[in-house]
Amino acid sequence: MKRPIVAIDGPAGSGKSTVAKLLAKRLQFTHIDTGALYRGVALLALRHQANLGDEAAVVQAASKAAFTFRQLPEGNLLHIDGENLGLAIRTEEVGAASSKVSAYPGVRALLLQLQRDLGAAGGVVLEGRDIGTVVFPQAEVKIYLTASIEARAERRSEELRARGQEVDLERVKSEMAQRDIQDSTRAIAPLKQAADAVLVDTSTMSIDSVLDRLESIVRNAN
Ligand code: C5P
Repeated sequence: MKRPIVAIDGPAGSGKSTVAKLLAKRLQFTHIDTGALYRGVALLALRHQANLGDEAAVVQAASKAAFTFRQLPEGNLLHIDGENLGLAIRTEEVGAASSKVSAYPGVRALLLQLQRDLGAAGGVVLEGRDIGTVVFPQAEVKIYLTASIEARAERRSEELRARGQEVDLERVKSEMAQRDIQDSTRAIAPLKQAADAVLVDTSTMSIDSVLDRLESIVRNAN
């Protein structure tokens, strides 16, 4: 089998992260969670107490940091200046901040080349919002994963509970809806399905069936 670039885009809670990670494992490809990079920028901005409404301050907080992924038993995890930020970037606070900072052209420019370098060699599953539209418009395989807001909010709540965080489902749902609006209406690189992406609605699908479907899409593209 060739080692293509697999671009998986979709909204929060569509199953992207879980499935991208498992798909990469099945195919023995590298998994790159690009959302982690935006979360990393948000975390740096929060740590520097930068005003999140000030693009220049946010870019400044992140511009000197070294973003790398390291393959650990738990996955291919983001490190910033050598620090494993696997868990610190997963809070709802960082999630909401990441959606805000990801609308800044300066932030997107900062991360664009890095993502291209990470995927250029192929044999990679990249997941995000604009992989098939902006980062790798020439990707051999493009998948757009989606699911109903109810299914997505349920999944995100489960994930947070599993991490020991307290969860209010309605709040998760409304924050998610808010994030969907921010991500899909921003002027630069909005969340949208690429014209040549395969749409997969995971609302009523098990993880295994989504995985089987994605694996067959990748194998049939060869
Ligand atoms: O996927 P995740 O929820 O971790 O992404 C966090 C935020 O990063 C998203 O809400 C989105 O605003 C942003 N993002 C992006 N482009 C990507 C990946 C994530 O704008 N390729």
